[in-house]
Amino acid sequence: MKELILEMEEYAKAKNVPIMQKDGIAFLMKYIKANNIKNVLEIGSAIGYSAILMASSSPEVKVTTIEKDEVNYMECLKNVKKCGFDEKVSVVFQDALELNLAEGTEYDLIFIDAAKGQYKKFFEKYKYFLAPHGVIITDNLKFHGYVGKKDTIESKNLRQLVGKIEAYIDFLNTNEEFETKFYDIGDGISISARKANE
Ligand code: SAH
Ligand code: MG
Repeated sequence: MKELILEMEEYAKAKNVPIMQKDGIAFLMKYIKANNIKNVLEIGSAIGYSAILMASSSPEVKVTTIEKDEVNYMECLKNVKKCGFDEKVSVVFQDALELNLAEGTEYDLIFIDAAKGQYKKFFEKYKYFLAPHGVIITDNLKFHGYVGKKDTIESKNLRQLVGKIEAYIDFLNTNEEFETKFYDIGDGISISARKANE
């Protein structure tokens, strides 16, 4: 297991796959353990690094992870098999914006870590599959330090993407249904929980 994780870190570095930073994934694993999380939905598997580590954080955790890129999906499946997690991690090969989950499916934790420009869409679509006391966790809210410094970015595409992340942060901050806390860990993480009914 340890060796596989190291292998995955090296693969990600060599192929430029944006897997979670070490302190970010450590934070997530601790959160899962401390809050007795059992069912996790991840949007954006890449090679399965965060899915496998989340699944390893306690014996009862199960992770469903969605990936739309075929190369990453195949690599993810391979890694899940290698560590014997076939029962703990199910990998779905589809665009998360097109997937229809069965009605009544509920997750204690939904982890958004796919296309950064579509975070709001993922949030709006998947909040209906969040258990009543569940949380939605989002990664990369600092986007390598670019968030909040849009005016200094030369590339138009990058500026637009950062603009979308900033708009997502606004969306979370002004959300009537969810209360969000932001953490300066890894590349920036948020935890959104439903507000208590008044
Ligand atoms: N969670 C992973 C990293 C994910 S990187 C880890 O930390 O180990 C983001 C991944 O999201 C990429 O593999 C990309 O192909 C995938 N992705 C982007 N948009 C998607 C979508 N709409 N549906 C499913 N996967 C998507
Ligand atoms: Mg990420």
